[in-house]
Formats: sequence, C-alpha cells, structure tokens
Amino acid sequence: MRVAIAGAGLAGLSCAKYLSDLGHTPILLERSATLGGLVAAWKDEDGDWVETGLHAFFGAYPNMLQLMAELGISDRLQWKQHTLIFNQPEKPGILSRFDVPNIPAPFNVIVSILRNNDMLTWNQKIRFAIGLIPAIVRGQKYVESTDKYSLIEWLRLQGVDDKVNTDIFIAASKALTFINPEDVSAMIILTALNKFLQQRYGSKIAFLDGAPPERLCQPIVDHVIALGGEVHTETSLREIVLNPDGSVKHFLIGGLGPESQELVADAYVSAMSVDIIKLLLPRSWQGMEFFQKLEGLEGVPVINVQIWFDCKLTDVDQLLFSRSPLLSVYADMSVACKEYADPDKSMLELVLAPAADWISKSDQDIIEATMSELAKLFPAQIPDHAKVLKARVVKTPRSVYTAIPGRQAYRPSQATPIPNFFLSGSYTMQEYLGSMEGAVLSGKLTAKAVNHTLKSHLISSQTLGQTTAAKALA
Ligand SMILES: Cc1cc2nc3c(=O)[nH]c(=O)nc-3n(C[C@H](O)[C@H](O)[C@H](O)COP(=O)(O)OP(=O)(O)OC[C@H]3O[C@@H](n4cnc5c(N)ncnc54)[C@H](O)[C@@H]3O)c2cc1C
Repeated sequence: MRVAIAGAGLAGLSCAKYLSDLGHTPILLERSATLGGLVAAWKDEDGDWVETGLHAFFGAYPNMLQLMAELGISDRLQWKQHTLIFNQPEKPGILSRFDVPNIPAPFNVIVSILRNNDMLTWNQKIRFAIGLIPAIVRGQKYVESTDKYSLIEWLRLQGVDDKVNTDIFIAASKALTFINPEDVSAMIILTALNKFLQQRYGSKIAFLDGAPPERLCQPIVDHVIALGGEVHTETSLREIVLNPDGSVKHFLIGGLGPESQELVADAYVSAMSVDIIKLLLPRSWQGMEFFQKLEGLEGVPVINVQIWFDCKLTDVDQLLFSRSPLLSVYADMSVACKEYADPDKSMLELVLAPAADWISKSDQDIIEATMSELAKLFPAQIPDHAKVLKARVVKTPRSVYTAIPGRQAYRPSQATPIPNFFLSGSYTMQEYLGSMEGAVLSGKLTAKAVNHTLKSHLISSQTLGQTTAAKALA
C-alpha cells in the first residue's frame, strides 16, 4: 500500500524504513534540500560540515541502536569512555569526571557519584540519593506523576540540596531539553535518569563518525528505495485536502516552483514538527479535541555554534557539560569525530541554551558571548593563544517541544481520529522524550499504527468482497 509521509527528519525516515520492511511503499517528502531535519548538516564554501546540532547518542537508545544494526551501520558510532565530564566554573579549566565502572547498573552510576568529590559533599550525596529513591523504586508510573512539578519544585519536595541543582541538574536539564531546571518538567529528567540507572551502558555516550545526513539518513533512504519506496527532497506538503467525510483525499505538494500536484495514497503521515502541522491542519479538524491539544506544544529555541581554531585546545574525546549560564554541552569534534578529525587544529561544537534571549541576536554577538565563556573553559589558550579561523552559527527558533510541566497531557498518539491520517515526530507520545531515540521510536510506532489500519481495512474489504461474491453466487 502507498503511504505518503511529509518530513524526512529521523521520525519520517524511521517511519518510511519500517513501512518498507512491512511491505508498504512509502513516498517520503522533505521540504529542505537536506535530509535529517534537526540532525541536518550541509557543507560550507570551504567544504566543512555545518550542523544543525551537536548530537550525542546514548547506550540507553535501544531503537536507534537497533535501527543502525538493521542497516549494518552500527560501526559508525564512536563509543567514548564511560564517563560524564563537567566543567567547574569556580575552577576554570579544571574538569570534574564521573567515571562509571564496568559493574552492573545501578551500582555503576552510584559508585561514579560516590567517587566524585569535586562537586558534592557526602551529606549532599546522601540526601540526593535518598531523594531519588522513589523515582527508582516506584518506577515509570511514579515518574510520570511528577510531570506536574518543575524539576526544582520536585527536588525541594524531596529535600535535595539546592547545590545538587546548580551542580548537576542545570547541566542535565540544559543538555536534555535546552531549558533550565526551574522551567523543565521533573518527569523529563527523572525519565532520563531512570533509563541511565537501569542499564549498565545506558549513560555511555557515542558520536556518529561523520555528518548525520550522509552517515545516518542516507542509508535509511537507500534501504527505502531498494524496497521500492520513494524519497523526494525540496518537495513540501502544501495542503492536506479532505474528502467530504473529513478523511484525507490527497496531499497537495510542490517543489521549488509555484506549481502544485496531488499525491494520492492509501494512508498519510505528518512527520513534520508540531509547530508546522499546527499551521497545516485543515479547518474542519481544528475544532477536534485531539488536534486542539497540539496547541499545548511548542518548539523550544536552541542555537548551535561551531568554532574552528588555529591550534589544538584539548585532547578530551568526550561530550562535556559546560555548566555555564550560556552554554549547555560541547565537544571538540576534531578529536571526537572521525570525519572532522584534525591533529593540529580544534573545531569546537557547542550548544547554546536556553536560547530565547539570543535567537534574535546577530551571529557576531553570539560568537563574542561564546568566546567569553570559552575563555573560562580554556583559560590557558583563550583569548591570548588560540586564534579563531572561522565560526558558524545555526539558529533553530523552534526545535523539539518545550518540556515544561504538564506537557504529557498534550502529546498525541501516532494514530489520530482521522482513519487514514497519522502523526510522527519526537513530540508524539513515546517514552524517549524529544530526542533522536524518541524520533526513531515514534517513526516505528507510526509505521505499526499505519500497518495495523491498512491491514484491518484490507481484511474488512476482503470480507466485504467475499460476502458480495457469496451473495452473487447464491
Ligand atoms: C541543537 C540540537 C542538539 C540536539 N542534541 C541532541 C542530542 O545530543 N541527542 C539527541 O538524542 N537528540 C538531540 N537533539 C534532538 C533531536 O535532533 C530531535 O529530537 C530529532 O532529530 C527530531 O526528529 P523529528 O523527525 O521528530 O523532527 P524534525 O527533525 O524536526 O523533522 C521534521 C522534518 O519535517 C520537514 N518539514 C517541515 N515542513 C515540511 C513540509 N511542509 N513538507 C515536507 N517536509 C517538511 C523538516 O524540514 C524536517 O526535516 C538535538 C536537537 C538540536 C536542535
């Protein structure tokens, strides 16, 4: 059966892949010239990759790891040492490590916390551990009930010291959601923490060995095309056209020119961000409770900065948590990523979050502010010794859904009240939040829902056909 999918981010790509595996024919449309959506990247005039975002993979990403294994590209993940590294703003240039020993979970993470004496006192560690007990012992149901609290509110209810917040949770909150602990839902951070605590290698980090469109998205496209599907870039969904009964009649699509054409399929999927599908909802769907709930979700701003230096700043082969007010995480990609490797020069890739106050500022302002933060992270080299060769800023005014308290109630299922229309995207309901893993899982869930509907439709029309044939024979 033909399935039209709008959006070739990881959700749309994963949906197309799993639909192909189930014997369907996906027709995947991507508005941009590049695959990947929030993992998209392109080459600048010097041939250097410019990325939408610095992307870290985790051991606790079962669906992403399975997808890559199915495509035969697992070796493209460069796994790092099992350690979490934090900067210490009060001790510029000195890193604090949580080395996770190779023993069963959750003891490995607990030992790493107990062994680290840079950031928390014993008293703080013990109160932190006691505070976390309900989340560990009472499981995901309890974790979901914490969606009504901000992380700070929940930590205070547990009697956890505010120092734990400033030391650990600012880093976790900004890295996972691009917002601060006073704004983020407690459920989000506790969900991630639970996944990390339950699996031996859950918090182990990997980077892709090159740019995501080539190293991750293209193999999915090749797989889909090999199984008879189609992928069209620079092709947008312009309008969802309905039948009189409110079901989808066709997608009205268009390329770079003004002409539009009709794309007719057996089922239709939006794998666009929540902000875009809200704009494209047909008028007669807008009053339906299911679609009205989407108004409760909105993408969060984030900025990715890449800076090329004339010398080596570090040899740390890992993601680092900056713990600065401006920056979230960063890595020297000339060390951490094979395709970006350079033995003599550094290329730092940094995520600037929360970015609401910065999104309308000039690239120059953003680079200057980043450089003054970097002077605290690399006091020996910046500003006096390392020279900036060039810098690139990519602003995403609306990225993943803003994970403030209460958002779980607004996240939609992949199946909708419209029988031939489905949603996909990391904002839809799945257990892995607004992440690459969440996008891949949502695509898989959408493919399952589409397949289920198409199969039951096929069975009922076959049954109908048999009944009609039986009647004719009688
Ligand atoms: C700076 C940054 C850092 C990140 N870091 C991490 C990380 O370290 N680890 C992690 O797991 N996740 C990270 N994420 C989150 C992760 O990238 C996303 O959760 C995931 O990629 C979302 O995929 P998606 O398919 O749901 O949505 P999107 O990637 O938004 O895909 C939607 C697609 O729809 C297309 N589209 C829009 N309108 C139309 C139209 N009219 N017709 C056709 N196509 C259309 C868009 O161009 C886009 O390709 C990061 C994100 C950013 C921005």
